[in-house]
Amino acid sequence: MSAFDLNAANQNVIGILGGTFDPVHLGHVALAEAALAGLPLSEVLWLPSGSPGHRASTVAGARDRLAMLRLATEGRARFRIDESELDRSEPTYTVHTLARLRAQLGNAQPLVLLLGSDSFLSLPTWLRWRELFDLAHIAHVSRPGLRASDGGPRPELSAEIARRSARGEQLGASAAGRIARFDMPPMDVSASAIRARLAAGQDTRHLLPAAVLAYIQSQHLYLKETL
Ligand code: ATP
Repeated sequence: MSAFDLNAANQNVIGILGGTFDPVHLGHVALAEAALAGLPLSEVLWLPSGSPGHRASTVAGARDRLAMLRLATEGRARFRIDESELDRSEPTYTVHTLARLRAQLGNAQPLVLLLGSDSFLSLPTWLRWRELFDLAHIAHVSRPGLRASDGGPRPELSAEIARRSARGEQLGASAAGRIARFDMPPMDVSASAIRARLAAGQDTRHLLPAAVLAYIQSQHLYLKETL
């Protein structure tokens, strides 16, 4: 079997994009599209969180965040939403999420956790973070807005990168354990900046899918008094 055949035989590779999506924005959509274009993924599984374990809970409720995510991903055959953690009020940690998916999908299924660089660099602060590599690959993409003073990876993360580095196209060859980078056109957008703009009555059309902005306006989300 040639390297090409081996790759073709492993096309069932699932990318996982977790977040609060409060709201989902064009940076998330660009990240998911870039992952599909640059990595050997069959689909991107969007995983909206309930009450995230490591930060304050969300501004919009679970139903609204899901409705916006459906609008942003609608009509895209290779985008799928996993709703199973949305209604959880107890903290959900990524290590638990990946263990659940691994149990559902079996040990042979290649899984790729997709992360923006802010999330990737914070990995050593996550619960049982080294176990993540037993459960999935990690693919990270640079995100504008990191300050030079934020520095590079902590030494313990650098050590994992040195051990586990792979090219994106290699991620289908095993189920978990490698770290790869992929590229996307830089998009300086964050949900928190969008919420602030909406509360201040500023334009967000260049930052949000049109249907998501229409939903926000129709449901009166992210008004000044609700932030
Ligand atoms: P907030 O501003 O509230 O922190 P956010 O915009 O970072 O929200 P999340 O739902 O926390 O959105 O992000 C989910 C994932 O998407 C994270 O891995 C994050 O790094 C990544 N991400 C979000 N926006 C971008 C962007 N503009 N470029 C690259 N990655 C991004």
